[in-house]
Amino acid sequence: LTCFCHACWSGPDCSVQEDIKTCMVNAESGSPFLFEDYWVAHPEAEVRIKPSYQEGYGWYQPQLERAIRAIHAQVGNAVTDDRHIVIGMGSQQVLTAAFFAVSNASRSPEVDPTKICAETPYYNSYPRTAAWFSSSLFEWSNTTDLEANAASPVIQVMTSPNNPDGSMRNKTVPGAFGIYDHAYYWPHFTPISAAVEYGDEDIAVFTLSKLTGHAGSRIGWGIVKDPKLAEMMQTYIVGDSGYVQENQLRATHLLHHALADQGGLLAYAREHMEHRWKVLHEVVSKSSRLSLQALGQAQLDKWTGTVRSPSPAYAWLHCNESKDQDCHAAMMAGGIIGRPGSAFGADSSFNRLELLMQPAVFETLAAKLELFVNG
Ligand code: PMP
Repeated sequence: LTCFCHACWSGPDCSVQEDIKTCMVNAESGSPFLFEDYWVAHPEAEVRIKPSYQEGYGWYQPQLERAIRAIHAQVGNAVTDDRHIVIGMGSQQVLTAAFFAVSNASRSPEVDPTKICAETPYYNSYPRTAAWFSSSLFEWSNTTDLEANAASPVIQVMTSPNNPDGSMRNKTVPGAFGIYDHAYYWPHFTPISAAVEYGDEDIAVFTLSKLTGHAGSRIGWGIVKDPKLAEMMQTYIVGDSGYVQENQLRATHLLHHALADQGGLLAYAREHMEHRWKVLHEVVSKSSRLSLQALGQAQLDKWTGTVRSPSPAYAWLHCNESKDQDCHAAMMAGGIIGRPGSAFGADSSFNRLELLMQPAVFETLAAKLELFVNG
């Protein structure tokens, strides 16, 4: 039997606590295990699938589309009326579909490949996608100092709140097509100040991964006004993978649960995130070895009707001492695994830690951070 233990616990039944000074805690990925205890407490949201269920190739499921529209209407974070919902295998596939569809619309021998850009620090998957395809349709641009026109189209990705630093982003490249990656625009990560509402020149992308925590179900969606663009994105998704039926069924059940629960899931996640940020601020303030990103202003959260500060999914840490110039390596030596600033187009004095782990792992991370800042 293989047992996956929490960080700093080991043994066949994970009951052996390792020495906190020498054990390793992993805060590298972004798997949202934060939600696990909530779902353990809600077995009624279970999905059973008959062996005969949907054997054939299938389409996207209208009941999932309706549940997506309903959760946005309930939370008030995005307008979906008069807009298409394009469902994909995680927002990762929806983003690739959008890169394809937008750049394909201007494809011609006289037109340069569409440049995809984002302000630094940016989510590391955007340049990776462009590099993998190495396509004549689109390429990554290391700068946002661009001006888009018919001969040199530009896509600017605004990750808002941003991964890794939680900042809110606006379009800065004149004439660019905007992809707003709103993976984290949910009340557990940021106050919901308004429902986003984009026209033909922009789209919004969301994911189940950071809403209910079911990253493994691979469900994401785009909210797209322009019907031609929505159709081209769908063409890409059908050609790439088609629609998986089981994950759509599960996502629909989970969203129906969240809708009926009237925010219980979101309140659960918010309480945990607020606790984590309180602990982080306390620990990091104990010395000047590390600093945390400044969080945006507290503002009215329309979802709760209260004034709230952001509680982002990642800590974007800066190492302040010259001995820690490579912040990632220094923290790794202290038993904390993060993702280096260079992955996000920033310099090596930054390191990103994810904050979506199980509560016990977060408490271990906080203890390791305390040792690090006092070290
Ligand atoms: N966008 C951002 C900003 C993310 O952080 C992530 C996941 N870490 C994704 C997109 C991809 O999410 P998924 O494919 O699971 O929907």
